[in-house]
Amino acid sequence: MEHRKVVIIGSGPAGYTAGIYASRANLNPLLFEGMQPGGQLTQTTEIENFPGYPEGIQGPEMMEQLRKQAERFGCEVRPKVISKVDFSQRPFTLEDEDGNQIQADSVIISTGASAKYLGLADEEKYNGMGVSACATCDGFFYRKKKVAVVGGGDTACEEALYLAGLCEKVYLIVRKDYLRASDVMKKRVGMKENITILFNCNVVGLYGDGVVEGARIVSKVGTPEEDHFTIDIDGFFLAIGHKPNTDIFRGQIDLDEAGYVKVIGNTTHTNVEGVFAAGDCADPRYRQAVSAAGTGCRAALDAERFLMETQGV
Ligand code: NDP
Repeated sequence: MEHRKVVIIGSGPAGYTAGIYASRANLNPLLFEGMQPGGQLTQTTEIENFPGYPEGIQGPEMMEQLRKQAERFGCEVRPKVISKVDFSQRPFTLEDEDGNQIQADSVIISTGASAKYLGLADEEKYNGMGVSACATCDGFFYRKKKVAVVGGGDTACEEALYLAGLCEKVYLIVRKDYLRASDVMKKRVGMKENITILFNCNVVGLYGDGVVEGARIVSKVGTPEEDHFTIDIDGFFLAIGHKPNTDIFRGQIDLDEAGYVKVIGNTTHTNVEGVFAAGDCADPRYRQAVSAAGTGCRAALDAERFLMETQGV
């Protein structure tokens, strides 16, 4: 059976950065690209907040560069998905979608998270043409324009506040008659004059000629006061939560209630010695490319130290 010192699962900024560090440490890492090579950033357009790109860079291009940088130092990138893991004993056993098994002395999990969408056909139709799941990434393109944010949690409030600083008008569309967000966030949102909260509202469609020009909304659905109306918007932001891509690790390592990998203290160690986690799969809070890259670096350093302590390499 193929045997590696370090196997990295996932190919976002965290995975590739782990690949760069682990290969430069001569650990000959093997990185599985997974279902979405390059991760969430391949779905965004321009990235303007990653340090080192003063003019910005397209998401797919940045991921291509990260992949090349990892490969330059000997990280092997395999276009396969890991579908099963056994962390019950070392070396760990991983199985790809074709049933090929690999043994690993250490594993870095960097499988990312996926933004949740409402499931409307129009979200797909206008993807990248007005529909986004990241205000920090795309908000700048809507300066002085009108946008809507869907969701009633802390993320939705945070996104709405961020956008309120850039945009002429922000609608916060909440399906219930209250915000689930923390009191401090609710207060901040309430103080912004250019945020209008639409309670008891569900978005049922988007319209526009090639790009988003508005949203179709139903309020108080199923009640005698049910109402159908539209709002004119240029940008439509989803903030209804993220789902970490950790299903295959359930029962193998500790996950929190939402499925995020639990790491120990200020490290990338999981509860299984030799298994490390980096990036959005272990981060419900920051979820930025640069913070994911930072934890990828730390995971590789943690893995290197672990191998040094257990194997002297
Ligand atoms: P949450 O799960 O807290 O909130 C999701 C929101 O989306 C809820 O209001 C929910 O509505 C709504 N929603 C879910 N599905 C749909 C749907 N199909 N249609 C319409 N609305 C929908 O997720 P968050 O991402 O906001 O937060 C995740 C965690 O991260 C939380 O613990 C949060 O506190 C934390 N966080 C903290 C921050 C901070 O401290 N600054 C910033 C960001 C996040 P409903 O209420 O009806 O279920």
